[in-house]
Amino acid sequence: MSLIVQKFGGTSVADCEKILAAARKAIRAHQDGHQVVMVVSAMGKQTDQLVQLASEITDRPEAREMDMLLSTGEQVSVALMAMAIHSLGYKAVSLTGAQIGIRTDTIHTKARIKSISTDRLHQLLDQGNIVIAAGFQGTDEHMNITTLGRGGSDTTAVALAAVLHAHACEIHTDVDGVYTTDPRVLPEARQLERISYDEMLELASLGASVMHNRSIEFAKKFNVPIHVRSSFSDTPGSMIVAEPESYAAPVCGAALTKNEARISVLGVPDRPGISLEIFSRVANRNVTVDMIVQNVSEAGYADISFTVPNDELKITLEAVQQAIEALGAGQLNWDDQVSKVSVVGLGMANQTGVAEKMFAALADEKINIQMISTSEIKISVLVERASALPALRAVHAAFELTKQPEVSPIPAAGHRPTADAAAVASRLQDVDMEDLMLDDISLDDTQGRVTITGLPDEPGIATHVFREVAASGIVVDMIVQSHDSHRDHASLSFTVPRSQVPAAAVVAKRLAAEFSCGGTSSEAEVAKLSVCGVGLRSNTTVAIRMFQALAESEVNVDMVNTSEVQVNVVTDGKDGVTALKSLKAAFADALR
Ligand code: ADP
Ligand code: ASP
Ligand code: MG
Repeated sequence: MSLIVQKFGGTSVADCEKILAAARKAIRAHQDGHQVVMVVSAMGKQTDQLVQLASEITDRPEAREMDMLLSTGEQVSVALMAMAIHSLGYKAVSLTGAQIGIRTDTIHTKARIKSISTDRLHQLLDQGNIVIAAGFQGTDEHMNITTLGRGGSDTTAVALAAVLHAHACEIHTDVDGVYTTDPRVLPEARQLERISYDEMLELASLGASVMHNRSIEFAKKFNVPIHVRSSFSDTPGSMIVAEPESYAAPVCGAALTKNEARISVLGVPDRPGISLEIFSRVANRNVTVDMIVQNVSEAGYADISFTVPNDELKITLEAVQQAIEALGAGQLNWDDQVSKVSVVGLGMANQTGVAEKMFAALADEKINIQMISTSEIKISVLVERASALPALRAVHAAFELTKQPEVSPIPAAGHRPTADAAAVASRLQDVDMEDLMLDDISLDDTQGRVTITGLPDEPGIATHVFREVAASGIVVDMIVQSHDSHRDHASLSFTVPRSQVPAAAVVAKRLAAEFSCGGTSSEAEVAKLSVCGVGLRSNTTVAIRMFQALAESEVNVDMVNTSEVQVNVVTDGKDGVTALKSLKAAFADALR
């Protein structure tokens, strides 16, 4: 008998009428002959209200008690859902995370799932029940209640679909599917028929709140196709599967993280171990860092900037302050009025000029880019918050996201087989479900680096630079740009094929003269090391392990970028082999 997981989000169970409507959907699937597991979120804005209540008592609630509090929202909605199904004449049983046996680690408010027992679920299903699982919660080894992080019911749903070998995982929500960007922010956004796991992962972690990013890690790891659809209609939604809608289009979607904060540590010694000193303290507080940009400034000193979600600024600043004290060097500087705008697409990996197009769209709107970070399938820029919306609109238009791209054939939406049971079981052997899983650690020793420092910090500079670089036939790979509000200038580094370093250096010199700015430097040979896999960003310790391994091998890191699927570091060319060896040793346990 086939099994379906149906998840209903907060707005889809916001009142009793909606709970009954959701109950009818589950019953319909049951009548169609499927076993049905429902995963239900707290009603409406219940979780927000609980957070608000806690904040009226204290601004630093204990994370354990926060979980005790937040988990109650889902306990209410699953009970009501079971009653709704009973009232319609069908059998149903509601279960909390603990009752299902969703075992997590002990990181309260951001717990990761270790294992799920399926015995009780199967038993109840076999007895003809619709099983209603509370989303977003589990228990640790001491039976403390834990929650998975805001939006985590999606993760419960996909994890259950994986362990139960479900035929379909339907995410019922308040939009018709996944759009090219949040349709509530840009009404012109287009609904996608299909999006790949990697693209959805990036978009979700860059602000597309339609899916919890960790749910997509599960989907990718266990090959669970997800159907995102409206709970208020029966129209087909969007499929999240392995293949993208199109490889021809460079970009499939754009996302906005409105409330982002930038932190800079200026003037730290440029030597191995400095990044470790800073980022290990941040990661120990389970904060996910993004857009790490380091640039070499005067006489062996570097500036390191990165971004974090605004609501984690305070704890991050405490961590960084401690690092500065430990280092005995560095000045702290931050901006809490910035937003991150990103574009994502598998297609950009094989196309040139994608970054330039994004920069040009922003320049046309006179929007200043404060920081840039690119990786294989995403480009992120940091802008002042007041420009966030115009920036998103400009890039959405520049990549013509409202237009349907050339598509490859689309598999029928809905019920398709997932990974076979043996494949899932083999992935669960001796590991926890959300453990880091690496596919590869590799060394690219074909590139060099060019840096321009002291660029004017104003709109249009990045687009000007990359237009000139492209005009000389130079192919750019990684780009990072940092911004120094104190010194009022920007510094731009990019990597190019080694054979093109001399030509790129000439262009850089010409541009530096044109802008009468600080200067340029180039490195004929850099090594780019890439770690690829699943869980790279959500496991906040990955960056620490990388920095630690490199510091222990005395390797200095020049550039870094992180994405959901790949972390890249650039080092001096001579250090490539040593760096590769040390990373392989450090991650031996996570390599498949
Ligand atoms: P639920 O309560 O069902 O989990 P969420 O509020 O978490 O719903 O997610 C749905 C919301 O995600 C939509 O209402 C929409 O505003 C937002 N959203 C953000 N980015 C996207 C996107 N790319 N496509 C669709 N919806 C998006
Ligand atoms: N109720 C939780 C939240 O609002 C979990 C979820 O809805 O996914 O974050
Ligand atoms: Mg949600």
